[in-house]
Amino acid sequence: YLEINHIKKSFGDLEVLKDISLTVKKGEVLAIIGPSGSGKSTLLRCATLLETMDGGDLSYLGEKAVSMDASGRSVYAKPAELREIRKKFGLVFQNFNLFPHYSVIKNVTDPLIHVQKKSKEEAYRIGRELLKKMGLSDKEDYYPCQLSGGQQQRVSIARALALNPQVLFFDEPTSALDPELTGEILKVIRDLAAEHMTMVIVTHEMNFAKNVANHVVFMEKGLIVEEGTPEEVFHSDNRRMQEFLGKYN
Ligand code: ATP
Ligand code: MG
Repeated sequence: YLEINHIKKSFGDLEVLKDISLTVKKGEVLAIIGPSGSGKSTLLRCATLLETMDGGDLSYLGEKAVSMDASGRSVYAKPAELREIRKKFGLVFQNFNLFPHYSVIKNVTDPLIHVQKKSKEEAYRIGRELLKKMGLSDKEDYYPCQLSGGQQQRVSIARALALNPQVLFFDEPTSALDPELTGEILKVIRDLAAEHMTMVIVTHEMNFAKNVANHVVFMEKGLIVEEGTPEEVFHSDNRRMQEFLGKYN
């Protein structure tokens, strides 16, 4: 579904991703965990084409977004091809990234109207259905600043889902939220997992990674140190992994 081979990325002298390979299968929930600065967000940004990588290749559903030349350097597909590939995934960030001057329903329907060129009626029908699913039916005319952080994050999830992505990426979707609001977002993600939505989630919520993910990757200093099922990774006797988990207990 998503295949990443030998990704490398440096910022100046700093080698942030050293050689990362990963496969995400259809219906899988991958949790990426690891210390601050280990390269998790950079990996997510490279995988979602927000950041250019230096080496390695990347494909979505068998379509190559990035290929490698003979020396392993990344070669990007043509802009028109990349535009098509970008339609295959959605993104949810830590800080919600909503348009503050748009109402909730407009935030959700805007990409449907402007990216997918749907009629206003069709966009509003889909938008209202998604807001209902997110428990926000009564908020469609509110503005983001009138909502709680958890509600804003549910709007951004609705907006990402509106484009019907094959893969949904989250970068620490709950880290800007108070603990009591974190649970409502984790529940939304858990419900999506039950519907077999393919998801890649960078998270510091270890219990969530343990209980919802079926594939866990532990990163440190730009490398994957441990990878497997939650049972395998959380019970690994890798010393670095145990030190990391110790900070959460
Ligand atoms: P956190 O858990 O704190 O979010 P992370 O694992 O997501 O950390 P990254 O954001 O991927 O870590 O950053 C990895 C390293 O790359 C850090 O040392 C960071 O300073 C550096 N870095 C990230 N983005 C840039 C950039 N645009 N320019 C220069 N350095 C960067
Ligand atoms: Mg990060």
